[in-house]
Amino acid sequence: HAPAHFRALLEMSRFHGDKVFLVYEDEHITFEEHFRRAATLAGRLVEEYGVAKGDRVAVAMRNYPEWVVAFSAALAAGAIAVPLNAWWTEAELAYGVRDSGAKVLIADGERAVRLAPTGVPLIVTRGEVPAGARAFDEVMGEVVADVKLPDVELAPDDPATIFYTSGTTGSPKGALGSHRNIGQAPMTVAYGMMKAVAMAGKDVGAAAGARRITLLTVPLFHVTGCFSAMTTTMFSGGGLVLMYKWDPEQALRLIERERVTAMIGVPTNAWQLMSHPDFGKYDLSSLSTLGYGGAPAPPKLLERITTNLPNRAPSNGYGMTETSALAIGNGGADYHAKPDSIGLPSAVVDVRVVDPMGAELPPGEVGELCVRGPNVILGYWNKPEATAQTFVDGWLHTGDLARIDDEGFVYIVDRAKDMVIRGGENVYCAEVEAALFEHPAVDDAAVIGVPHDELGEEVGAVVRLAPGQTVTTEELQGFLAERIAKFKIPVHVWFREGELPRNPGGKILKTHLRREVLGL
Ligand code: ATP
Ligand code: MG
Repeated sequence: HAPAHFRALLEMSRFHGDKVFLVYEDEHITFEEHFRRAATLAGRLVEEYGVAKGDRVAVAMRNYPEWVVAFSAALAAGAIAVPLNAWWTEAELAYGVRDSGAKVLIADGERAVRLAPTGVPLIVTRGEVPAGARAFDEVMGEVVADVKLPDVELAPDDPATIFYTSGTTGSPKGALGSHRNIGQAPMTVAYGMMKAVAMAGKDVGAAAGARRITLLTVPLFHVTGCFSAMTTTMFSGGGLVLMYKWDPEQALRLIERERVTAMIGVPTNAWQLMSHPDFGKYDLSSLSTLGYGGAPAPPKLLERITTNLPNRAPSNGYGMTETSALAIGNGGADYHAKPDSIGLPSAVVDVRVVDPMGAELPPGEVGELCVRGPNVILGYWNKPEATAQTFVDGWLHTGDLARIDDEGFVYIVDRAKDMVIRGGENVYCAEVEAALFEHPAVDDAAVIGVPHDELGEEVGAVVRLAPGQTVTTEELQGFLAERIAKFKIPVHVWFREGELPRNPGGKILKTHLRREVLGL
């Protein structure tokens, strides 16, 4: 029996008893209630739906408490949990169902309408139950106190989850994770958070030492939400505050109301929270840690947190769906010393940077970042070629270009696919974006390659200015000239009103931007 797999975590979390585990609007669900509901649903999946070890059970919902119940039940039944992206359209959801070969779907009303045409047995919560589907409460029936988890033998390397990647660089890939991957996640994340807090060197926020209450600002269907926040909360016996969707004002209200101690999400969440006009009106004294990752965090974000939320422990984490969330993290004094770094590898991973032939590069040189460790997934579901290309001799090839300094700190330079090649010179978009962010009038920026007959590509930038600010293309170019080499300075600058298009993972959708400004 594997000691660290999710069933063990679920059973352990029951000892937290009547402490509140999940908060959603006015609903407060204790660890005991959660355990009973999860164990009950697991039993129904086995008895009424014939779910057996290795079968796929898909979950398609917003961040409702039932998401956590369905995910827990699927794993407790020995099935592979398949969190589907709640933002997906009917066609995309159908792809997820078909690709994973799900035997049962557990969805909220909004998703259920889109999933019903697949014809796969459907269990529906919060909303209308389409013809042929069953209501969640009806399936659950009576929830008894002495409910036990179904009997199933699981080994650490048995598959446990299929999370779909964000689809930033192509179509989403199903990442097949193991029970070992889930087991290590809370330890890796808790270690990183504790280190950031310890390194802050003093009691951070009024809530230092208090029970950890986490506000989750991102979806549960990505690994940041599920692993960095949900399973880690289960592990620590803290509380998890869920939101229907990200909304900075709602976040401010919830931090005050629930005495939230930690916010976990993407860099834009922290940025938008502090930019909100009512930021100063709420009591945020309980908030002691802010963890973010999944997308580049400009050093300006750390500066702004230091000014607006002093005495807290911010941390920047790097991870992928393929690394089951956190792989490399920066926090505490390290983060202040090297705000442009994603920090040091977590305690359980090895990292290295390699050239295109796969040979390891010395410190300081830019190459592809590779990661190895118990957090790296088994491979891609149904994609043997992509698996063979990405997972080589135990190393995950991340597709991110990075360098490692003499002290082992990792710097993400760009995604290999985002890099602009201008007349044979590599231009790393992330570097140009970071330089743009330094301009006080710039609120957001994305750098893209613009096709050019002679050079192949030219550098272009889409810029969103802070409210009330004006700046010309020439002024921006002049500003950049003092910071980066001439060939990296954007020749084209598009000023854009409104937020840049981002997916729920906080990633700028560059393909959308290219289409928008270039018609490509
Ligand atoms: P797809 O693989 O489908 O194209 P995706 O790579 O965006 O989508 P995820 O697994 O959600 O899917 O994201 C992982 C990627 O996010 C990393 O490869 C990296 O490019 C980026 N990333 C994650 N954390 C950070 C960070 N702290 N700083 C910079 N980039 C980050
Ligand atoms: Mg990826």
